[in-house]
Amino acid sequence: MSKTIGIFGGGQLGRMMAQAALPLNIQCTFYEANRSCPAAALGKVFSSADPELIPFTQSADVFSLEFENTPLADVELLMEHKTIYPPAEALAIAQNRLLEKNLFRVLDIPVAPFLPVDSVDNLRVAVDNLGLPVVLKTATGGYDGKGQFIIRHAEQIEEAWAQLGPAKSLIAESFVNFSREVSIIAVRGQDGDIKIWPLAENHHHEGILSHSIVPAPQSDDLQPVAEEYIARLLTHLDYVGVLTLELFVTADGLYANEMAPRVHNSGHWSIEGAVCSQFENHIRAVAGLPLGSTDLIQPTVMVNVIGQHPDVAAVLALDGAHLHLYDKSEREGRKLGHITLMPKNPAMLTTLCQQLAEILPEPLALTKETQIHI
Ligand code: AMP
Repeated sequence: MSKTIGIFGGGQLGRMMAQAALPLNIQCTFYEANRSCPAAALGKVFSSADPELIPFTQSADVFSLEFENTPLADVELLMEHKTIYPPAEALAIAQNRLLEKNLFRVLDIPVAPFLPVDSVDNLRVAVDNLGLPVVLKTATGGYDGKGQFIIRHAEQIEEAWAQLGPAKSLIAESFVNFSREVSIIAVRGQDGDIKIWPLAENHHHEGILSHSIVPAPQSDDLQPVAEEYIARLLTHLDYVGVLTLELFVTADGLYANEMAPRVHNSGHWSIEGAVCSQFENHIRAVAGLPLGSTDLIQPTVMVNVIGQHPDVAAVLALDGAHLHLYDKSEREGRKLGHITLMPKNPAMLTTLCQQLAEILPEPLALTKETQIHI
């Protein structure tokens, strides 16, 4: 029986969801401002610029999202007649760092000490209480490190406030001295079944994800802890679909940074590297189907293609390289695609990463010296 899933957003995440849905004979529709978005090749796009919300809500049996800043008002309107997964509550919490950090606390998931800030005076109090350095972030609307300011000296308080204060609702966090950043991605089905992928170790360059290594090296002790944290979130939120939790690795263990109520860039490796990808399992969950195994097939490195397209033939000449392009035009800092490296012999990952660093116009954190020790 054919089913249609309506997706808020039509970027590369929606595109890859629809690619995973196709073999299951599940169609997707999209609600997105740009009609020639990456997902357009895979299903009908309803314009959020016109807007075509009502016809979009009539276009599918069940709904989901690929964009965490999907307006809550749109979701609430949809919910008058239709079901959306993940639940609106999870979306509302993920849209606000204060609600998110409060939930982590309630669920005993460690977070850096934080305080809400809504004036320059209570920013001063927060800095006094937390101690420097402090990371000041807008409570809503930030992504990829945008909307944040690291206050290292008390003299920077005014400047930080001048930059972010207009956002009105801010969060001041203690600076976490982390050794690395990891993410755990999990999926929960409509019957409450939970499946969790191995931890990814994530490397960023100027706030943008450069590459992810899976499994995260030396993560045997971290994996069960991260699984426990994400399972708590999924169960508490009565969540359905894929959820991502970004974590800092510190000398005292894992600290949660933020969650994304959706498939995630650090899970793109799972298309080739896991028995069932994050995209397919998300579609399965939303459609009410049994979940697939999240087991790793082989260690992988996922590398983002940023800003400029690579020489496709050179990438594909690498043994074990899989290229995914999102049909986007070139622009500085823009995610245009990704490459999954999955050689038969995992010992080759270092060589392949170094070769890829030479091929990619903007290799971000990947260099000729990159070493992968899995
Ligand atoms: P976010 O927008 O919260 O994902 O933060 C973007 C990046 O800023 C993270 O990936 C970290 O590298 C860094 N960062 C965020 N919060 C903190 C913190 N409290 N302490 C240290 N680094 C942080």
